Amino acid sequence: MTGLRVSDLTVTYPGRPPVVAVNHVDLEVARGEIVALLGPSGCGKSSLLGAIVGTVEPASGSITFDHEDVTRLPIHRRGFGLVFQDGQLFPHLTVAGNLAYGIPHLSRVEREARVQELLELVGLDGLDHRKVTELSGGQRQRVALARSLAPSPRLLCLDEPLSSLDADLRERLADDLGEVLTASGTTALMVTHDPEEATRVAARVLRMRDGVIAP
Ligand code: ADP
Ligand code: MG
Repeated sequence: MTGLRVSDLTVTYPGRPPVVAVNHVDLEVARGEIVALLGPSGCGKSSLLGAIVGTVEPASGSITFDHEDVTRLPIHRRGFGLVFQDGQLFPHLTVAGNLAYGIPHLSRVEREARVQELLELVGLDGLDHRKVTELSGGQRQRVALARSLAPSPRLLCLDEPLSSLDADLRERLADDLGEVLTASGTTALMVTHDPEEATRVAARVLRMRDGVIAP
């Protein structure tokens, strides 16, 4: 199978006794698939996602993408993208500036075309020159999504991407998020504590509890 494969992955944090945040987890996301990992706060979702993107070092186990072992690769060499709950945009840059940030290797013309394509994809056409501090929360999350998609990551990881938004906006954005990921053919793994969000975004929902994914 091509895509993401997580095998027998364990993440621990120091303590007396140590915290086992992720406990021998196996997980697969096929190329082009959108999977949601649903579970309560503290069950190990962010730790698992962190190990996959490379911000958290696993105690044991392996992570491969298209059969390439990335378990010990630095973050920037995995070709994965990450979207957080609160977007984490660069406040001093415009919308276009934020989107262009991750694609410095493109020529100016290519970069501008890519920015326009992304703005259209997430429904923000015409807002290129807006400061990100002058956007609504929902618009900011759309920018964060577009920015993470700009370099065409082979896997996009999303950590509770809609949790900071109001309930009705969250529902609408969940539908849009699913559509954007599908339209762009993005392979994605989203973690959330919200069952509604999980089913709106993903075709397949896995359940996590106490560091373990339910069979
Ligand atoms: P979730 O994202 O599902 O809320 P986390 O992966 O953040 O869960 O946390 C899983 C467990 O690991 C929790 O018990 C949490 O307290 C613990 N934990 C998370 N990060 C750290 C850390 N940096 N140091 C120690 N314990 C941590
Ligand atoms: Mg978390």
